[in-house]
Amino acid sequence: MFILICDAFDGSLPERLKRFGEVTDDVTRLPEAEVALVRSKTKCTAEWLAGAPKLKLIIRGGVGLDNVDIKAAKERGVEVRNTPAASAVAVAELTMCLMLAVPNKLVEAHNALKAGKFLKKEIKRTELFGKTLGLVGIGRIASEVAKRAAAFGMRVLAFDPFVKHSDVAIMVPTVKELFGQADYLSLHVPLTDDTKGMVNAAAIATMKDGVVIVNTGRGKCIVEEDLAQALASGKVGAYATDVWYSDPPDPTSPLLAAPNVLMTPHIGANSKENLLRIGDEVVALLEKWGK
Ligand code: NAD
Repeated sequence: MFILICDAFDGSLPERLKRFGEVTDDVTRLPEAEVALVRSKTKCTAEWLAGAPKLKLIIRGGVGLDNVDIKAAKERGVEVRNTPAASAVAVAELTMCLMLAVPNKLVEAHNALKAGKFLKKEIKRTELFGKTLGLVGIGRIASEVAKRAAAFGMRVLAFDPFVKHSDVAIMVPTVKELFGQADYLSLHVPLTDDTKGMVNAAAIATMKDGVVIVNTGRGKCIVEEDLAQALASGKVGAYATDVWYSDPPDPTSPLLAAPNVLMTPHIGANSKENLLRIGDEVVALLEKWGK
């Protein structure tokens, strides 16, 4: 088996994969690859697939499959797998970091101190305790967020058209109801025709004034222009995001210049522990594959 590691995985993975065959991270050898390991950086388009005539399997280390053209892969007889279980804790912890950093004004306080300003009187924090968290989607990551938010004393609601009951969140029947009740809204959905642009001007108009939106799902679930306007007007109190229209974001993205945006460079899955877990899932997949 010829395995091509296209993106960043744990450093121990090449050694662990050697028992399956030849392993390289030299992407110029794509034409020889039978198995390709990708994360979100490599875009497995029809054109990319055409350059991999021997490919039989793509393993996406992580959850979202929006960087893989599943239809084109199927047409070429290439199987596509991911590692869905690994990342929930890592992404949930980053979500909590973002959700805590905004009302606690961590970045402002830190930057002020660095600039020699001790803003003890000026910086007023607010608490998560007693606030309502609205989770869009209640899959693996959102369920981990729900447990942690409950420990902070938040009231946790969720909307998910494919889930009727959750042990960790109160389900609401419509996304409109979720938007209307949330003090904090957190997105945990895949990018689909239904979720693309779901946070747009019309949706934002139904939200509470000053709502804080956290996005560790997918950048394209929001409409950047609409959100930037809502941040400028104060309708949306803050946007804390790990995800973008593209990695890295286009320098003209209105969010880069909008007020009250807290940003990270798509590092939700990048904990040391998670990269090891992803590696474990990759090994397990290869053990089962073809049997
Ligand atoms: P999951 O499949 O366990 O959960 C997704 C949930 O979204 C499902 O319960 C599904 O029913 C629900 N859903 C689908 N369409 C919906 C809609 N229109 N409205 C409401 N809910 C809807 O996936 P997960 O592991 O929890 O991951 C969620 C998403 O997080 C991924 O698809 C990916 O986009 C993103 N993600 C980001 C990072 C990161 O680094 N920031 C890492 C991993 C995953």
